[in-house]
Amino acid sequence: MSYKNIIDLHTHTDSSFDGHHSAIFMCETAQLKGLRAIAFTDHIEIDTYYERGFDLTARDSYLHAANARSAFNGKLIVSAGIELGEPTYDTATAEALLSKFNYDIVIGSIHNLRGMPDFCDLDYVNEHTDTRALLDTYFEEVLALAKWGNFDTLAHLTYPLRYIAGEQKINVDMKQYSDIVDSILRALAENGKALEINTSGLRQPLGVTMPDESTVKRFRELGGEFVTVGSDAHKAEHLGAGIEEGIGIAKRCGFNCISLFKGRTATPVPIE
Ligand SMILES: [Zn+2]
Ligand SMILES: [Zn+2]
Repeated sequence: MSYKNIIDLHTHTDSSFDGHHSAIFMCETAQLKGLRAIAFTDHIEIDTYYERGFDLTARDSYLHAANARSAFNGKLIVSAGIELGEPTYDTATAEALLSKFNYDIVIGSIHNLRGMPDFCDLDYVNEHTDTRALLDTYFEEVLALAKWGNFDTLAHLTYPLRYIAGEQKINVDMKQYSDIVDSILRALAENGKALEINTSGLRQPLGVTMPDESTVKRFRELGGEFVTVGSDAHKAEHLGAGIEEGIGIAKRCGFNCISLFKGRTATPVPIE
């Protein structure tokens, strides 16, 4: 596989609580694989910001990304980013953080509902059996995030499906959510935001990107202009994984370019 045009805009270093490798090691691996660009987007969960020390994580992550960028100058494009979790649950904290660092890219995420653990940690068999209610609230929260809009690309839309449909094999009829998904996609398009094609689902039981191809297509139909592609690698071996497939989806859905971000401004990279 040729990685020369591979731009992976969603990766985690060991500054993330669930990341495994340093920024420098990630860059060395990216260079060996021949990637053109990577963005470090370590987790900062706004709803548990001080409780879990994300203020320190943010500083640590930004400094490591900046060091890596200068060390790999001319060899690999390194973007300093952030995966901003649940910013709408405390917008003042989120906005203060965003004004503190000169991020290249901000990924907006919802990993959990208010006051609840991450969707990855819910017990869908005994406790959280009403997956319809969970998904209804999830999509409402993503819509609020899309309307708030202080991010550049929306991370892994349909994230709970990774666990509900993928790991637990619980059947989910996505037609029930088509109206609210349309509202989310419209809000992104109207705010000039990108939709992320998160390729982690391809290497996980879910088996498809988040969101899937039909949703990316719908985004285009509703006026979406920008897409980013990210592996969501938490270890070096997953850098670039599924990015070519993600770019192929973007192309089939009518996008001629994928976006790279610098200083929070999108640069179009033509799909060859
Ligand atoms: Zn995430
Ligand atoms: Zn992530």
